[in-house]
Amino acid sequence: MALDFTTFYNVIDNELILTAQTRHGINPATGQPNPEVPLSTAEDLDRAVAAATRAFRNWSRTSFDDRRAAVHAFADRVEANKEALAALLTREQGKPLNQATTEVAMALQWARGLSSLTLPETILEETEDLQVIQRYTPIGVCAAIVPWNYPLLLAVGKMVAAVYTGNTVIVKPSPYTPYCDLKLAELAIQCFPPGVVQALSGDDDLGPMITEHPGIHKISFTGSTATGRRVMASCAKSLKKLTLELGGNDPAIICEDVDLDVVVPKVAILCFLCCSQICMMIKRLYVHEKIYDEFRDKLVQIVQALKMGDGAEPDVFFGPVQNRMQFDKATDLLDDITSNGLNAIASHVVPNSSGFFITPTIVDNPPDTSRVVREEPFAPILPILKWSDEADVLTRANDTEYGLGASVWSRDLQRARRLADQLEAGSVFINTHFECAPFAPFGGYKMSGMGTELGVNGLIGNCNSQTLWIRKG
Ligand code: NAD
Repeated sequence: MALDFTTFYNVIDNELILTAQTRHGINPATGQPNPEVPLSTAEDLDRAVAAATRAFRNWSRTSFDDRRAAVHAFADRVEANKEALAALLTREQGKPLNQATTEVAMALQWARGLSSLTLPETILEETEDLQVIQRYTPIGVCAAIVPWNYPLLLAVGKMVAAVYTGNTVIVKPSPYTPYCDLKLAELAIQCFPPGVVQALSGDDDLGPMITEHPGIHKISFTGSTATGRRVMASCAKSLKKLTLELGGNDPAIICEDVDLDVVVPKVAILCFLCCSQICMMIKRLYVHEKIYDEFRDKLVQIVQALKMGDGAEPDVFFGPVQNRMQFDKATDLLDDITSNGLNAIASHVVPNSSGFFITPTIVDNPPDTSRVVREEPFAPILPILKWSDEADVLTRANDTEYGLGASVWSRDLQRARRLADQLEAGSVFINTHFECAPFAPFGGYKMSGMGTELGVNGLIGNCNSQTLWIRKG
């Protein structure tokens, strides 16, 4: 069934609810307000938690087959609305339409892929007298706290993992990007019983209200490391189960034997997709000194040729960054680069608009101690660094508080594997980066997170482990 994409509601107990007060996001390409969305209160949250608690009784007892069928019906409805969702995503997030279309396609792949996985039930001991089984049971009411960079994909991933394993879920979008997530929940009410999937939009108070709520049993959080710490502290009070997917500062190590004509265009995309607002993408590029100059010059040339503008226009690659806060942070980092006299190679004249456009910038061999190397820019600002010694570059690559992704690029797969085996990150890649799939667990080392999402491992994160002891005598 087609949706109305002009009015936005909370979804509570399979009803579309307006709130007394509303708020709105901003179209980052124009600076103009997007439509009004609900501003949820503590009472709205209480209602949603009560409905989720009621729904859990039956939903947790439905079979995996029934739950899979509901998830597939939901995916079909998302697919039927994919063009409108992608256009809405561009309008709220700023990413170009083709990247928004890919995000919707990935969400479909995740929904269908996650719900085709099977949770293990393991017989740990089997004797004449005794059987011991380990199995997984749903936790209860889950909350999915979603960031603004991949609002649709990450909401679908969290929501599907929760409900497929028998939980109920309340989705809380970022205040910057509430639109697609509210529409996803509207589609979900056509497929799930009341209270199983709900969504609440709100401002900065809503996240802490959720993590404090005694009726919620599990939080799946994706966002910055700083907020992740606050979420963990809040969850500690009621010992909520918690998955944290946090920031990253991924290194890529480029060896001297790569084919530049093949590798540089790939790396350019993996550094700058979504205006570099992706947790797991190349944020520190270590290039062997033998090819450094040629690599840098080719990279600059490719980046300069990528079109910048409103993501709703054709062929745009660089949209705006998503919000004013991110724009100000990026501007501050650019000021730091200039004031420290670093060699910043800037491309593009930013569009003449009130949008949040940041000039894509490549910083030529800055010191390892500079902010652009130490921090996660989350904007199209990339340090490219020279290396010559393998042991040294590994130390530099691992010298970060983060550990989300890391990659090695070489034609010599044995050498690449030897280097990759020494990288400290939850996802390690050879001759690629930023790959993910519904069957593959995804998570971070160090301050990049706790637990995993996706894969059987990710599904288990939505469950209690239960050990069943059966004395047969
Ligand atoms: P953020 O931490 O500001 O916000 C994330 C979500 O948390 C939003 O919904 C926000 O409203 C909510 N929130 C804010 N304060 C809260 C609190 N005290 N309690 C509960 N919820 C609260 O992050 P962001 O700026 O939206 O996203 C960018 C960050 O997310 C980057 O650091 C990026 O690397 C990271 N990220 C990580 C992954 C991953 O899977 N590891 C994926 C995408 C983004």
